[in-house]
Amino acid sequence: MQSPIFIGSEIYCNSTYGSKHPLAIPRVSTVIDLCRALGWLTPENYRVSPCAKPSALETFHTPDYIAALQKAEQDQYVSDETRERYALGTLSNPVFPEMYRRPATAAGGSMLAAELIRDGGIVFNPAGGTHHGLADRANGFCYLNDPVLAIRTLLNSGLDRVVYIDIDAHHCDGVEAAFHGSTNLRMISMHEARRWPLTGTLDDDAGGAAFNLPVARGLNDDEFSAIMDELILPATAAFKPQAIVLQCGADAVTEDPLSRLTLSSSSHWNAVAALKELAPRFLVLGGGGYNPWSVGRLWTGVWATLNGFYIPDRLDTDTQTILRALTWNRSAGRNPPPHWLDTLRDAPNFGPIQEELKQDLRRLTARISR
Ligand SMILES: [Zn+2]
Repeated sequence: MQSPIFIGSEIYCNSTYGSKHPLAIPRVSTVIDLCRALGWLTPENYRVSPCAKPSALETFHTPDYIAALQKAEQDQYVSDETRERYALGTLSNPVFPEMYRRPATAAGGSMLAAELIRDGGIVFNPAGGTHHGLADRANGFCYLNDPVLAIRTLLNSGLDRVVYIDIDAHHCDGVEAAFHGSTNLRMISMHEARRWPLTGTLDDDAGGAAFNLPVARGLNDDEFSAIMDELILPATAAFKPQAIVLQCGADAVTEDPLSRLTLSSSSHWNAVAALKELAPRFLVLGGGGYNPWSVGRLWTGVWATLNGFYIPDRLDTDTQTILRALTWNRSAGRNPPPHWLDTLRDAPNFGPIQEELKQDLRRLTARISR
């Protein structure tokens, strides 16, 4: 099999959602810098993400929404009517200079990824994973929905069994809405209970297409292992997927400011390693993640895991320099702990498996063989 491909773009270094937005932090640019410093990116395994054209985006999004998004970028202004109708120009989805081009580049990357793995392979698009985007409006920091666009590209290329797994701290409401009742797409989402967008309850099966597991705050690595072993891996394997799409949001790790889940990076890396074996095509996307050190370190380790690169316990001085240069306008950012600077790996967070989680897993796993 061809070696894994990393999809990136300079646009993630040179644009921002505005200084007060949780996504004002550098994310993909840090991953690229860290991977380069570690010798993990080469001209052969790196592709520049194309900016998707409106016609490509309209395989999921409505033409009037795409036109409104382009016009908002051009005008750098939205009317009250546009704000109301398309949720553009809000606190979550502000007007900013690249508000079409940046999400359209992430979406173009995910659609390119789906094309690149048509005959098999592995692609990582860390700028992807915008799982809240709706067909006709922005939602939850997402202007477009690149997972849906990538999955549609895979299905349109002739595949009919794709599994989408989402381990972001938030429920993938946009993806679920797009594939409600689908028999070609199985969706498996683990997300923090009672957190925005409050969808994805245990009983919500999206017309048979989805397994939704809301989890309590404080989720630990042992609990995540149980979720992998009892739900995610068997439900994926039972669908006999021709392709797997993993949304690997970095906001379920312990030091993220927008969730109360407490996984270590090993949980995500183990998930990537295990899922890689279950289908001939594997697309890994980013997602949430609002602590610049957590995101950069986690996704750099995801890339290493996809390639089988050895992750050193302690980073060399040049690589540490990248992490030392990061800033964050939160109190934790003023005095980062040593492990944010000298290693990719978090300390493991082992712990007991809560009884409620065991019960919820039993409820869901009973559906797997049906
Ligand atoms: Zn999230």
